[in-house]
Parts: sequence; C-alpha cells; structure tokens
Amino acid sequence: MPLLVMKFGGTSVATLDRIARAAKRVAREVANGYDVIVIVSAMSGKTNELVGWVEETSPLYDAREYDAVVASGEIVTAGLMALRLQEMEIPARSWQGWQVPVKTTSAHGAGRIEDIPTENITAKFGEGFKVAVVAGFQGVSPEGRVTTLGRGGSDTTAVAFAAAFGAERCDIYTDVDGVYTTDPRIEDKARKLDKIAFEEMLELASLGAKVLQTRSVELAMRYKVKLRVLSSFEEYDPNAGTLVCDEEEIVEQNAVSGVAYSRDEAKMTLISVADRPGIASAIFTPLSDAGVNVDMIVQNISEEGRTDMTFSCPTNQVARAEKALTASKERGDINYREVVADTDVAKISIVGIGMRSQAGIAAKMFDVLAREGINIKVITTSEIKISVLVDRKYMELGVQALHEAFELDKG
Ligand code: ADP
Ligand code: ASP
Ligand code: MG
Repeated sequence: MPLLVMKFGGTSVATLDRIARAAKRVAREVANGYDVIVIVSAMSGKTNELVGWVEETSPLYDAREYDAVVASGEIVTAGLMALRLQEMEIPARSWQGWQVPVKTTSAHGAGRIEDIPTENITAKFGEGFKVAVVAGFQGVSPEGRVTTLGRGGSDTTAVAFAAAFGAERCDIYTDVDGVYTTDPRIEDKARKLDKIAFEEMLELASLGAKVLQTRSVELAMRYKVKLRVLSSFEEYDPNAGTLVCDEEEIVEQNAVSGVAYSRDEAKMTLISVADRPGIASAIFTPLSDAGVNVDMIVQNISEEGRTDMTFSCPTNQVARAEKALTASKERGDINYREVVADTDVAKISIVGIGMRSQAGIAAKMFDVLAREGINIKVITTSEIKISVLVDRKYMELGVQALHEAFELDKG
C-alpha cells in the first residue's frame, strides 16, 4: 500500500469540530488508497498552558518532569483523532511516542530522534488498520523517560516518520495555506510560494519563521522527503500549498525569496574585556556549557588592549547567560567591567539562494532600513542570508519595508 504522512498542527485540532474536519481529510486519502500515519499536535494553546503550569510549580524545574507534563497535550489529541476516525468506520488506533517507540536522545525539552522502528505500526497495517495516529513532539530516551523535541517539534515527528516509513509525501496541515515570502500575519502583501528550496526553508525556519521547525527541514533535506505545507481549512485541492524541494526544481529565482524575523532576541555586551588570544573561547565556552544559544557575535576594535564583545541570544536566556559570565569572572577566567543586556531588540533577516550570484543585496538592505530611520545594531551574513538586529519597535516596519523594496509581493 502507498503510505502518506499527514500532520495537523495545533489550530487544526483546536476543537472537536476541527478534529472532525481533519479526520475527513484523512478519510479522503484512505479512500484514495493510502495507508495513513497521522501526526497530531496538542490543541492550540494547550502546550503553552502546560509549560506555564510547570514553570509556576517549579521555576528551576526538573526537565524530565517538564517533558512528562508537556507531552500530555498530544496524547489527548491522538486519542480523540483515533476515536473520530473509528466513528467514521475507519480502522484506526493511537500511538504515544514510547509505544512506537520513537527513540530519542536524553536531551529533555530538546530531544533528537535517533530511530523509529517501523515493525509495530507496519504489523497493524498488516492486520487491516488504515490509520496510525501518532502523538507528535514526543519520544522516549534510552533511560526510558518521556522526552519532547522542542517547541514546534511535531513537524519533526512528521518528517521523521515519512523518512522511516518511506512515505510518498509528508503533508503539514496548518493555519496558513503554505509558505509565504514572509509571515502573512505581519505583512498582508506576503505572497504564497508554490515551491521553496530546502536550503532557503532551512534558513527561514532557523531565523524565526515558525511555519516549520528547523529540524524537520533538515531531516526532509537529508532523507529526500517530499514535504508540503498546506491549510487544513481550505477545500481539498491536490495541488494546494507549498512544496519544499530541491533548488533544481525551481525555475524562477529572485535574489531574495523571503524575510524572516525573530522577536525575542536580546543583545548582550561585555564592556572592557582584555583583548588577548583565547578570550572568545573563554567567554563563549561557558555560555555554551550553560545552554545559552549564542547567535550573532561582534568584537569591537580594541584600544589599549581592551575591547567590547557583543552577542545575541534568546531573551529568556539572558539570566542564564549573566549567571555563566559572572561565574567565569569570579573564577578569574575572564575580566570585564560590566555586562549590559538590551532585551528590546529583534532580528530581521533576508534569505535567498539568488544572493550567491548577485552583488549589492546587503547594501540595498542597509539602505532600505536607513531610509526608514532604523538603526542597525549588529549584522551577520552567510552565503544566502543577511541578518540585522534592530530595536524591537521597528521590527514590523523593517520587515514590511524590505518586503516591498525586494518586490517580494511580485511573482
Ligand atoms: P501549527 O500549529 O500548525 O504548527 P505554527 O503556528 O507553528 O502552526 O506555524 C504556522 C504559523 O507560522 C503561521 O500562522 C504564520 O503566522 C507563521 N509564519 C511565520 N513565517 C511564515 C512564512 N514565511 N510563511 C507562512 N507562515 C509563516
Ligand atoms: N505542541 C507543541 C508545541 O506547541 C509541538 C507542536 O505543536 O509542534 O510546541
Ligand atoms: Mg508549528
């Protein structure tokens, strides 16, 4: 039997009615002759609520219990989806991560899938089951504890199942009808893309476009999974959505394909650090050991052997970063005058494979922001992306101005 993976995000299973609607889509694919693995998220808002409960009960929580609590949202929707399908006379059952089992690392809250044995589910299909409903976002560690895969992790569950089972396609059903040139919620002129290259999607996702979890794109690229993003609210159309595919499959290519943003960034500056060989390592190794995800880094020119070092990290890691830096200073590993944290910044990035072969894109980006009176605080570039840190209040304006200047609304 050909097999499909269909993933439904939080808004697509937010109520019993929506679950019923999603189940109808599954039924259609079963009628088309497919066996289906359905991956479900928690009902929208549920995971946030569960995380809130954990943090309220125990601010410095045990990550294993965090996972035990937070994984429960998906368990509920998996059972409800299986029941709804059974009501429609479709042989279906639910699977929690550990039952499959989805084997992950023991990095609680940020587990990585290591293996998905296919025997159990395949055996059920062999018995006449048509649909396996799997709770997304979760797995089991080598120690036998429940793990979760990081926020947005059900996308990764879906792609990993598609790879493990050799699915014909992995359809990600969400609340927008595809991948857009930027988040349609902050730019109404954003244009839906019919296709986007893996590399570009990977950059957009890692730079903040939460339509797909970064890791899911990485896996799809590595295992050549045919990945499609589409809306669970629109009428059935076999050509709907956006296909994430190899660069070669895309005929037309603008220099810039999309604009991403990340709202919760912080900029931290160590003032007056001794400028000597090994200083970067002395600062950033303890930060990394403390689990701080450092992104952009700039070192200023030094005067009289001292310099300022600036880096960005997610806002909710500032306290952790400060603690690690203070400890390093107390141990005498680094010596700085003070740390200044600016938690009111956001990152805006432009992404495009076409940038590899076209000059002047960075200059144009800086000019556009300057004309809007937006000050750039930090810049980083790679082959196919340019990111800047700006005051958060200018984030929407910056995204919109760049979207317009690079004519992303025009196909
Ligand atoms: P789900 O609950 O289905 O996983 P998410 O909220 O995780 O959905 O992701 C979908 C959201 O991603 C959209 O509602 C949209 O606001 C946001 N988004 C950000 N950037 C983009 C983009 N470039 N294209 C489409 N959606 C985007
Ligand atoms: N429910 C989880 C979250 O909100 C996983 C997901 O929806 O992908 O992060
Ligand atoms: Mg998501």
